Amino acid sequence: MDTPSAYYSLSRDINGDWSSYYPMGAEYQAYLVSVADKNDVRKRTRFGTEAEALWWDEERQQWQIHSGGPDGSRDVSYANVVIPAAGYLNRPRWPDLPGRAAFSGVSIHAARWDPDLDLTGKRVAVIGAGCTAVQIVDACVDQVAHLTVFQRQPHWVAPRRRASDEVPQYQRWLGTRLPYYANWVRLKSYWGTADNNYPVILHDPDWAAKHLSISPANDVLLQLCLGYIDRVFGAGSELARKVTPDFAPYGKRIIRDPGGYYAALAREHVDVEASEPARVNEAGIVTADGRQIDLDVIVYATGYYLDFLSTIDIRGRGGRRLTEEWGEIPRAYRGGMVPGFPNMFISSAPNYSPGHGAGHNFGVEVMVHYVTECLQLMALRKAVTIEVTQDAYERYVADIDATMAGTVWCHTPSAHTYYRSGGGRIVTAFPYRLIDFWRDHRAPVEADFTLR
Ligand SMILES: Cc1cc2nc3c(=O)[nH]c(=O)nc-3n(C[C@H](O)[C@H](O)[C@H](O)COP(=O)(O)OP(=O)(O)OC[C@H]3O[C@@H](n4cnc5c(N)ncnc54)[C@H](O)[C@@H]3O)c2cc1C
Repeated sequence: MDTPSAYYSLSRDINGDWSSYYPMGAEYQAYLVSVADKNDVRKRTRFGTEAEALWWDEERQQWQIHSGGPDGSRDVSYANVVIPAAGYLNRPRWPDLPGRAAFSGVSIHAARWDPDLDLTGKRVAVIGAGCTAVQIVDACVDQVAHLTVFQRQPHWVAPRRRASDEVPQYQRWLGTRLPYYANWVRLKSYWGTADNNYPVILHDPDWAAKHLSISPANDVLLQLCLGYIDRVFGAGSELARKVTPDFAPYGKRIIRDPGGYYAALAREHVDVEASEPARVNEAGIVTADGRQIDLDVIVYATGYYLDFLSTIDIRGRGGRRLTEEWGEIPRAYRGGMVPGFPNMFISSAPNYSPGHGAGHNFGVEVMVHYVTECLQLMALRKAVTIEVTQDAYERYVADIDATMAGTVWCHTPSAHTYYRSGGGRIVTAFPYRLIDFWRDHRAPVEADFTLR
């Protein structure tokens, strides 16, 4: 993990006992399971069930939910309000490499990792250079006989700041015994690495015209990362050149070195290919310049489809599909609301993830508060439906886009990033400070809705 563990507690279930500032997945999972159990979520969950379609039923003024169960059974249920919480990054993306199926060794996607896979003494290729690839390379470099890293485009990589990521015992002791200590640590972590960081993403046109970085604040980070490259690879070396991006930091997700990633790339038994593979064959990979690399294992750390609900057939008023409304450009009003889709709040909506720092839980907590306020408004007005007006939706999205235009993501067109949709719009991150986003979601603006 490369996001501080303090981010990962929900504000009402703060864990003051993380073992590490960057713990392993199992520890996060244990935390999430404990929250689910504490709130009795399992009892209310239909496991192994896929929501296939959500259709607005005009007659009943409810949503029809068409689902398929684990035994192949089909079901239609009804709800006054739906909150699609299907995420936007959870279908693993395998690259379209010719011959991929012909490989006789082990092919594995990072999202479907097999904990029993033993890489000891193996010739391994890792395709990708994002956060996942970085963590895999760091973890396996001492075991493998040979490692080839295929890097389509480098990320900026910041050095680890502490000698050890282990949380000192005294902090864990305080976190579990001293009231509000864990709240304080969480707040400090959010401030230090989120809003305090906000100037780093803001574009200063005068500065950017003369520098690779986009502002003096952004340049501080650039120099930190460049210094790290020079220290590990030697200034001007071929490896230094290969791992240096040609866009400003934060243009794509910045990576924190778990400790040994850059050092791994410089090892004798590791090669960095600064391109995608050309194709795969039975024995391994053929590089873009025609070299054969024989392999035992190919690890695909190639990410996920960026996908806002296209896998669920969602139809609002008049049978209009959400995919028609959005086309290639997903967008939403506060609370993940879209006109023509009454009583629907999309939880991981477009522009709900903090891009300059902080965790997904922040956006979700802001959202859940806002949705609860909207439901309360409906109850107060004795309304059966709540729907954002077209005008309010367009104004809200226009404001996001106008603010976004002043951020790094709109000034680093060469950076491949999952923040951008196929239509070119920045769709995952919101462009505001956390505190402003939080304030903006305290209470619904009634004039923006049609309540019936
Ligand atoms: C490699 C990676 C690293 C990340 N790192 C960070 C990070 O460091 N910090 C951070 O804040 N965020 C990070 N993110 C983003 C973060 O994971 C997401 O923003 C977050 O998981 C979204 O939460 P969610 O509950 O909305 O969706 P998800 O966590 O994607 O969960 C959606 C769930 O819905 C299920 N589902 C989907 N379709 C259906 C259907 N039709 N019917 C029933 N169920 C369905 C899925 O199986 C899944 O269980 C990362 C994402 C990835 C892929």
